Amino acid sequence: MSPELVLQPQPPVTISCADCGTLQHIPDLPPGGVVECQRCDRTLAKRSATGFDLTLACAIAIFLLLPPAVFMPLLDSSLKKLLFEESRLVSSVGTIYHEVWFPFAFGFLFFAFLFPALRALFQIVVFTSLRLGWPLWQRGRIFRWSEELRIWSMTDVVVIAGAVAYVRAAIPADVVVRIGAWCYLVVAILVIIGDRSLDRRAVWNAIHADAETVPHRHVASCDVCELAAPQRRSGDSCPRCGSRLDRPIAPRYIPAVTAVAAAIPLCIPAYGAAVMVNDQLTGVLEHTVIGTVQLLADHGYWQIGVIVLVAGVAVPITVLTGLIWLLARVRFPNKHGLVIRTRAYRVLHRLVRWPMIIPFVAALAAPIVDYRGIDDIVAGPGATPLFLLIALLMFAMRFFEPRQMWKSAGELT
Ligand SMILES: [Zn+2]
Ligand SMILES: [Zn+2]
Repeated sequence: MSPELVLQPQPPVTISCADCGTLQHIPDLPPGGVVECQRCDRTLAKRSATGFDLTLACAIAIFLLLPPAVFMPLLDSSLKKLLFEESRLVSSVGTIYHEVWFPFAFGFLFFAFLFPALRALFQIVVFTSLRLGWPLWQRGRIFRWSEELRIWSMTDVVVIAGAVAYVRAAIPADVVVRIGAWCYLVVAILVIIGDRSLDRRAVWNAIHADAETVPHRHVASCDVCELAAPQRRSGDSCPRCGSRLDRPIAPRYIPAVTAVAAAIPLCIPAYGAAVMVNDQLTGVLEHTVIGTVQLLADHGYWQIGVIVLVAGVAVPITVLTGLIWLLARVRFPNKHGLVIRTRAYRVLHRLVRWPMIIPFVAALAAPIVDYRGIDDIVAGPGATPLFLLIALLMFAMRFFEPRQMWKSAGELT
């Protein structure tokens, strides 16, 4: 496929909406044009003037900038101009590993560094091969993986957590922002630009063209790349992304319910125990999530306190109750309100990763204020349950299938 073809007018195509399973006709769009599903309002196509070129440029820059962002000095802190400490993003991993619990340390390493790097690499491979017209084995599958990594790559969450950690650490110490932090900030901005400018429909279409005709019967379809495949049968592997056509969605219900059920009791240690422990000369201060909000507000950083309150308390409560509501509606179906619930699913899907800010603040603040016996912040016993709680909610969200609500309500065959 030559690059010009991607930006030329594309023929109208038929795809199958991933959220409600309806066959939809997509006309050729002008740059900036958007098509929404006529039944559930899902954004099916967003034509971008740059196709995937800008995303490719961003992915290359991200891949080059991530190693210095992680391994170069992040923040310097000094206490009363006598004691000095230098932190790097990678040093947070070691600190959490020694002080808290190793899966949390690995989780931080994966979400902050490895997943964003892997995602950028996948994008570089797929887009370069499309751009140069090179054949690439399993191109669709690689692009599917890069899309799956989107929710698990948390550069934006790490940046906000870093800002909160900076303010939290600046209460006892003098903190200076170093080159690693600036590199990471640029990476996070590039991730957002690359994501917003990516024309996903053009990429899928360049990998394997969508059907141009509208079938008048049920056809096998893929709920990942939204391919409608009239020539294939249910259960075949998708010729484009390698997922299964008409993938059975019922077996995903029990893991989603289990993850939510396991998350509920974790709320008690996550919010009852301290997420950060501050060991000072004058005594040991333990701060829960709410206690951290209070501490920030007391020192005049109430805006940062609001961020912690919203991300750490309001969002998890919203996601947890929202998931219980959606899962209950699969069991007790109702045709009324299907569109609203599908929209709610999309909002929750976007929100679910943001509470990670709180355990990340603990992870980032620990190596900055690390003056043993004088003033030392460590991740507290509540940080791990909170990390697990959010990870479980993310798994539940990934397992939940909005089409199951449509199916149990009799709106999907
Ligand atoms: Zn739809
Ligand atoms: Zn597919």
